[in-house]
Amino acid sequence: MNLILLGPPGAGKGTQAKRLEDRYGLRQISTGDMLRAEVRSGSEIGQQAKAIMERGELVPDAIIIAMLAARVSMPDLAQGFILDGFPRTVPQAEALDVVLKEKAMPLEHVIELQVDDAALVERISGRFTCAKCGEGYHDSFKRPRAEGVCDQCGGTEFSRRADDNAATVASRLEAYHRQTAPLLPYYASKGILRVVDGMAEMDEVARQIEAILGPLPPKA
Ligand code: ADP
Ligand code: ADP
Ligand code: ZN
Repeated sequence: MNLILLGPPGAGKGTQAKRLEDRYGLRQISTGDMLRAEVRSGSEIGQQAKAIMERGELVPDAIIIAMLAARVSMPDLAQGFILDGFPRTVPQAEALDVVLKEKAMPLEHVIELQVDDAALVERISGRFTCAKCGEGYHDSFKRPRAEGVCDQCGGTEFSRRADDNAATVASRLEAYHRQTAPLLPYYASKGILRVVDGMAEMDEVARQIEAILGPLPPKA
């Protein structure tokens, strides 16, 4: 099963994608995580993307599409994948259609997480992650069970994204409304768009998504 989680920055795409990895055996493909790894490694792509990401603008389609095409060619996607943060423009969506058709990988669902802009600013400004395993947390909505210790791996170092600041968030939201929101009618017209109330608490959002995806696969 292959799906897209679509929604503005901070909507909860990463949070829900991680849960779906565990429950359905799907692989999360986050172009944001891939780009941050490129920036950390100092690669050519990373050098091109760094300043753009810090401004909260979108990295050029050609770079992203090449990166995504290489990723879906890897052999670990047999159970399916969850695209998180891709596509973000109509040309990216069109390129995705071509790549998936070539590989005979159908796209079953596009799930939109709907969240108000005001709530997004609060979610993004409180976001942090475990530096060791990447588990996501929030200052108000999801603190580690033991203060300063990651629930998943016991790690004690946490990090915040450079672009999770008030100024950059405004341009990320603007980019979403102008460049990414046109994907909603694009997928609605294919009959695969489903809407979930992303304002609900995390467990409820997960239940709504599971209701769309149907029964869990048998445990391997
Ligand atoms: P995205 O991947 O869409 O940018 P994240 O999954 O990183 O969003 O979520 C942004 C922040 O909001 C994180 O700190 C996360 O813990 C928190 N969060 C995610 N879903 C919810 C929710 N339903 N209610 C409250 N906070 C949430
Ligand atoms: P979020 O969903 O929290 O906004 P991401 O981690 O998905 O954040 O993206 C962070 C940044 O990486 C974006 O602001 C943008 O600069 C870049 N980026 C990620 N995915 C794409 C994409 N598909 N197209 C263009 N730029 C992207
Ligand atoms: Zn951890």
